[in-house]
Amino acid sequence: MDISQIINELGEDRENYFNAVAPPIMQTSNFTFKKVADLYKAFEDEMSSYLYSRGLNPTVDILRKKLAALDGAEDCLVFNNGAAAIFAGIFANIKSGDHIVSVAKPYTWVQKMFDVILPRFGVTVTYIDGTTIANWQNATKDNSTFYYLESPNSWDFAIQPIKEVAALARSKNITTLIDNSYCTPLYQKPIEMGIDIAMQTATKYIGGHSDTLGGVLSGTKTMIKKIFDSEYLNIGSGIQPFNAWLLIRGLRTLPARIERITKSTAAVVAFMQQHPKVKCVLFVGDPSFSQYELAKQQMKGACGLFTFVLKTSEMSSIVRFCESLQHIMMAVSWGGHESLIIPKCAGLKEEDFDPSNKEHRYIRMYVGLEEPEYLIKDLEQALDII
Ligand SMILES: *Cc1c(COP(=O)(O)O)cnc(C)c1O
Repeated sequence: MDISQIINELGEDRENYFNAVAPPIMQTSNFTFKKVADLYKAFEDEMSSYLYSRGLNPTVDILRKKLAALDGAEDCLVFNNGAAAIFAGIFANIKSGDHIVSVAKPYTWVQKMFDVILPRFGVTVTYIDGTTIANWQNATKDNSTFYYLESPNSWDFAIQPIKEVAALARSKNITTLIDNSYCTPLYQKPIEMGIDIAMQTATKYIGGHSDTLGGVLSGTKTMIKKIFDSEYLNIGSGIQPFNAWLLIRGLRTLPARIERITKSTAAVVAFMQQHPKVKCVLFVGDPSFSQYELAKQQMKGACGLFTFVLKTSEMSSIVRFCESLQHIMMAVSWGGHESLIIPKCAGLKEEDFDPSNKEHRYIRMYVGLEEPEYLIKDLEQALDII
């Protein structure tokens, strides 16, 4: 289906709500029944009708249809945030005694799930450099049942050969989940590449305005029902109707925003690359990126996030640079209208900062919707100060 049709029409039933262009927010906790038999059916299969908004809700359903279609998936579920989506997607597919192979340095809260929560249930995790298929092969044990991918990673942008990892998993009956937040389905289609569950945080690009959170899991109808029947309903981490409505609104402009951010990111990256105080720039869409060839094969584009290292190895200079920015704000997250910066050292105690460890010197930037010249001027004056 045409992307414009998905975004503007799919899932909408305007004749049922006064031909309004924007859908109503069905802000209701529950739904009434006239027949006991119908209620019985809803109890038996909560995915078969509207019963209670912890399960299905009509506003959320509009969003589900659009997001599943964008992913090229049969179905999807939308959670209250990305972390909840990942938690449910993993939890629904593992049991005590299982082993997970995961990319090194996955998203913070995934790492926490793997290191703190899953050991309590007898599930073990091996972290690997996921850039080569051999590493996946070598890490796989007899009790491996789950592969966790994040491509690209949101700090160093390491990518995995997705098709090969998916094929290896299929041959061993292993379930795969990929965090596709960096690309969104506009720039990467993991389901088409054989991945079982495509995840993205809707907090970032789908919302696009830094005013709501959301998380998405897409997959087959069978997989999505399995997650719905247990983790989704049990943990109660589904998105609320108003937040779903904000995400539908965000979706309307997603392609336009991604197009603009792609252009602006290229301009900002080019400026940083030539600046004498910048040691290196990591941008997955740049020919200098170590996995550029693979990125070109499996991604339609790259934008927004990139990381750079300043020539100075002083933590105080990194801090001064970040604090000298006048317009680019310092904050976690990304994908909104506003450009952001975050230094890796913000997560380190000062005495643990090791200048010889390049990662400690990482500064990640997200390019938002401002004029690129405005951002470049801000970066330039902050670079002048250090
Ligand atoms: C933000 C983020 C998440 C988590 O999403 P939330 O909506 O914040 O819970 C997961 N993966 C990546 C790569 C992210 O940047």
